[in-house]
Amino acid sequence: MAVRAELAVIGGSGLYALLDGVEHVVDTPYGEPSGPITVAEVGGRRVAFLPRHGRDHRYPPHLIPYRANLWALRSLGVRQVLAPCAVGGLRPELGPGTFVVPDQLIDRTSGRTQTYYDRGAVHVSFADPYCPAGRRTLLDTAAGRGVPAVDGGTVVVVEGPRFSTRAESRWFTSMGGTIVNMTGHPEAVLARELALCYTSIALVTDLDAGVEAGESVTHEEVFRVFAENTDRLRGLLLDAVAALPAERECPCGSALDGIKLPFPLP
Ligand SMILES: [Zn+2]
Repeated sequence: MAVRAELAVIGGSGLYALLDGVEHVVDTPYGEPSGPITVAEVGGRRVAFLPRHGRDHRYPPHLIPYRANLWALRSLGVRQVLAPCAVGGLRPELGPGTFVVPDQLIDRTSGRTQTYYDRGAVHVSFADPYCPAGRRTLLDTAAGRGVPAVDGGTVVVVEGPRFSTRAESRWFTSMGGTIVNMTGHPEAVLARELALCYTSIALVTDLDAGVEAGESVTHEEVFRVFAENTDRLRGLLLDAVAALPAERECPCGSALDGIKLPFPLP
């Protein structure tokens, strides 16, 4: 019988494994995803896990096979995706260890393929990039576990792999950014283009260059803070996948209604 899953977690930096389950190699028209996909049952739900950067962190943010990742998950039956990620804080009150469930996104990437639809007129709505039901579930789950999580915020997604200059960082704050990362886009829009629910939970690992007065952010610092908070994040994600609504009532599943697609979705 073919492998099936209904929900997925795409793990970010520092979260390379989440489930004890069977690993599956999935191929797609866009090549192979970042790594094998682990499928296991959590709280009665079939859940898939995919490490965004590959298990050995082989893909830097600008080279992650985003299209293959989302397509592979949908082809397994996944309709709801939780996407943890490491971020820099663009506001001094959002220090390392803070969880944020963002509600908006600003794309500052360049040169990444950010659509499946190179033919036809497929223009999805992206005004609200994250699933409202997924956000509610994550926030309620965090509150239930006593993990403080900030409700809402704007992710500025930069191309990387370098970190931002102080001027860029200050500009991101002034234009309404709350947190900054390198992987939130095009992942979010590709999920929308496949009518998937997509919800991000961001862990602040450092204050970004424009906020931090002293030393600027380093790779080591990011991974150290992530490691300290991995257990909290793991518990939160496992509770949240079990709590996601079984029947979708959010708008995400209707994202492609009335649009003529150039090919069928898996
Ligand atoms: Zn949704």
